[in-house]
Amino acid sequence: MTLRTIDSLGPLAGKRVVVRCDLNVPLRDGVITDDGRVRASVPTLTTLVAQGARVIVVSHLGRPDGAPDAKYSLAPVAARLGELLDRSVGFAADTVGSDAAAKVAALGDGEVLVLENLRFNAGETSKNEAERTAFAGELAEFADAVVSDGFGVVHRKQASVYELEQLRPSAAGLLIAAELDVLDRLTENPERPYAVVLGGSKVSDKLGVIAHLLPRVDALLIGGGMLFTFLAATGHKVGSSLLESDQIETVQGYLTEAAERGVDIVLPTDVVVAASFSADADHVVAAADSIEATPFGASGLGLDIGPETATAFADRIRGSKTVFWNGPMGVFELAPFAAGTRVVAEALTEVDGLSVVGGGDSAAAVRQLGFEDDQFGHISTGGGASLEFLEGKKLPGLEVLGWQ
Ligand code: ADP
Ligand code: MG
Repeated sequence: MTLRTIDSLGPLAGKRVVVRCDLNVPLRDGVITDDGRVRASVPTLTTLVAQGARVIVVSHLGRPDGAPDAKYSLAPVAARLGELLDRSVGFAADTVGSDAAAKVAALGDGEVLVLENLRFNAGETSKNEAERTAFAGELAEFADAVVSDGFGVVHRKQASVYELEQLRPSAAGLLIAAELDVLDRLTENPERPYAVVLGGSKVSDKLGVIAHLLPRVDALLIGGGMLFTFLAATGHKVGSSLLESDQIETVQGYLTEAAERGVDIVLPTDVVVAASFSADADHVVAAADSIEATPFGASGLGLDIGPETATAFADRIRGSKTVFWNGPMGVFELAPFAAGTRVVAEALTEVDGLSVVGGGDSAAAVRQLGFEDDQFGHISTGGGASLEFLEGKKLPGLEVLGWQ
């Protein structure tokens, strides 16, 4: 619990500080469609600028193949960062090449420079430790100190997240500190009742978090694609809905454990069943025990929780003091199947206590449905990272910053 803070780096005026941010924003035709992660990086950068540091920002964007690829350039992100910081922000056309070296050397106190996408360099994500260390060494040439603030990547052992921090004095930025503060409140003595709402596509992705949370929560509400594996585990037929048959036994184990612990696992009593996976498909509401009794028979697809379930979930959420939500309740990308997710999101905004949204698609869903970030207690910038934290795993990018 001893995360090193920026203060521990001493006076930073005139020092070159490499800041590892997570500026991995969604882009459409070179335009940023959600700048949440850029906004989240501002407090740390503002602090460093105010101290007169020479600020060098590094990040990844998308999954380029370890080589330059114009569609993953950070140039539009650097421009947006300049608007948000209200100052001119430089941009280097490479990460550790001659342009970066020249622009770093020319950087003045309190100025900000963004280097091109880290993942244009194979060493960043290499499985080979020596290759990662070599690339981190090139980045370290630019750094008197390192600030790690890319919360979305702290569960990854990558050069800029793990090796670089060991080569120079390093500390966590304000975003990582804020994210951990919230996650801590979810794991250490959460205010009760504590409800966790899980949805999304695959139950197997979330088994670890279910196992870790069961002893800690009062209620677990199950929606999304994973609900069908739970319904199957309680003896229901689920038509052609998402089903992970190989997880049924594990899920039955959780249901038994929950009953022994007095934890409520709340399963849907109704679902929206569609003829096919499309926005204009015929669909009806069916009781959870008669999914195959609709006109679509065994080919029906469950694509959302039903209205009765959504109301029950919302009541349960509003009656809780701590709520963590990961995973959309249905296929929110298609308008007819977004209602369950909207009702649950609405209820989270009304929690008298701490409400947290975690997960990339969940965060995108609430913004797409028109909610504002500040209606929730917290929207995590890191889906995988926050889930792994809640699973109780050790995250390499936090361990190098002193976290235990
Ligand atoms: P997050 O990124 O928030 O962790 P996931 O990646 O686990 O969430 O899941 C998000 C996806 O789950 C969405 O694309 C959504 O369409 C899908 N989904 C939700 N409910 C269903 C369902 N009933 N059938 C199929 N897919 C679903
Ligand atoms: Mg996702």
